[in-house]
Amino acid sequence: MSMVTIQGKGVFGGVAIGRISFYSREKLVVKRRHIEDPQAELERLEQAKTITLQELQSLYEKARKEVGEASAAVFEIHQMMVEDEDYNESIANIINSQKLNAEYAVATTADHFAQMFSSMDDDYMRGRAADVHDVSDRLLKNLMNKSGGITSSDEKVILCADDLAPSETVQLDKDSVMAFATCYGSTNSHTAILARTMNIPAIIGLGESLTAEYDGKMGIVDGFTGTLYIEPDDVTLAKMQKKQAEDLRKKKLLQELKGKDNISKDGQHVNVFANIGSPQDMGAVLMNDAGGVGLFRSEFLYLESEDYPTEEAQFAAYRTVLESMGGKKVVIRTLDIGADKQIDYFKLDKEENPALGYRAIRICLTRPEIFKTQLRALMRASVYGNLSIMFPMIISVGEVRQIKKMLDTVKAELNAEGIPYKDDVEIGIMIETPASVIISDELAKEVDFFSVGTNDLTQYTLACDRQNPKLEPFCDTHHPAILRMIKMAADNAHKNGCWIGICGELGADTSLTEVFLAMGIDELSVSPGMVLPVRDQIINSSVKDREEEVLKAAGVL
Ligand code: PEP
Ligand code: MG
Repeated sequence: MSMVTIQGKGVFGGVAIGRISFYSREKLVVKRRHIEDPQAELERLEQAKTITLQELQSLYEKARKEVGEASAAVFEIHQMMVEDEDYNESIANIINSQKLNAEYAVATTADHFAQMFSSMDDDYMRGRAADVHDVSDRLLKNLMNKSGGITSSDEKVILCADDLAPSETVQLDKDSVMAFATCYGSTNSHTAILARTMNIPAIIGLGESLTAEYDGKMGIVDGFTGTLYIEPDDVTLAKMQKKQAEDLRKKKLLQELKGKDNISKDGQHVNVFANIGSPQDMGAVLMNDAGGVGLFRSEFLYLESEDYPTEEAQFAAYRTVLESMGGKKVVIRTLDIGADKQIDYFKLDKEENPALGYRAIRICLTRPEIFKTQLRALMRASVYGNLSIMFPMIISVGEVRQIKKMLDTVKAELNAEGIPYKDDVEIGIMIETPASVIISDELAKEVDFFSVGTNDLTQYTLACDRQNPKLEPFCDTHHPAILRMIKMAADNAHKNGCWIGICGELGADTSLTEVFLAMGIDELSVSPGMVLPVRDQIINSSVKDREEEVLKAAGVL
């Protein structure tokens, strides 16, 4: 095969060279086939079982290291299922007595066992039906020599997909991904955000030329130019290896910024914090020397689990993040689901316009039992560090007052139970709707801080769905309307004693850092991979004596 070049849009710089693994969510199609030699079929099954057991063992060890024994136990259960006597007897029976292929025998046995578990009285046993399917699918994939799906090998791969939903990104074995390349997706889709969190190159919008036929082939992702090379020729390979080495050298230089203050040449200080989706991102936060966590998207805790995360589970996650930051500020945003972040167990109605729908704070205020559990977990965790709580999608003063009332109820409950919490936890809101900008003078009187969510603010202001890649040419992220709104919110915040940060992706746009300095933005919260480049930009800027000029040039004044 000669080299194939596909052009897309780079959403995080860097060069990755490695094998392509195509993430396919298509269901395995199992054919019923007569076979002549049952013994050969049983041997094929044995081989697939050996590989399956090895995969499960490495998944178990990895999970045990990362999330602890309790969560890793599921892989032990899967191993036991593969070796279960009844399960194997049933498969062998079908192969031997009906002379049918191993795939069919496994699939039929899996259906039969899953049905048996489903009809049991006990909740725990009923839950095992999904495990039977899960482990049987793994066995089937190995029988069919399919490498698609979520990778579990030790080798790092370039993960290709049509696009990844947030619920899929949470299940990824992130340690084995060196780059992302997707057919669709938008600059601010969660795959793009994940790549920036993981500090790995990513390309979106490669279109339909990127197909599963490239699974297993060698590839190169150039995140700077948005180019994907498949089966590169020697000249391209050498060129890209050189580019990769240069990039790594530059990244190393940036690492030297670690421990230095973020002060512009003329003395303006800006906090540079990091955005995270789970406690597992803390490694990237610390490695990039962020001054704090400016946005913890707590909804990822909900996306990762199969049912509402308990108060204890949430408490543990918040506490881990607070403790890892050792007293530095951690802004945790309350649940922001809906729109592109859908969770089955919430059983939300299908909506015509989910981005303008029943989402985020609207769910929390109408389902107080969910909201209160989260607030309790947050307040309990507050004693373990420097916590701020932030609320998404605010459009009115009434909402903020309602939230504060609920928070008071939670505090009263904790008091009554003798559970400690910090009483001076900062309260803030996301500024991500045009309404919140326009009434930011009033909102600022209610809270301690604002954080501008430019991803949503841009989509609502420019009427451009952030999920729709077709709209990218229309979606001018530097539109003066957006920049003026940020300035308006900043002025109103400062007049009323609030600090203001930006936690949307625009905060990491280094071509705007000087504009943000001129507006007096106090904090920029960016993906961990962008912390050092943004700090570098701040240190090399000075705008004090030309603020008006900078703002005029950007169309803000
Ligand atoms: C935003 O809207 O800019 C934001 C930071 O929140 P999310 O991307 O999670 O909607
Ligand atoms: Mg948002």
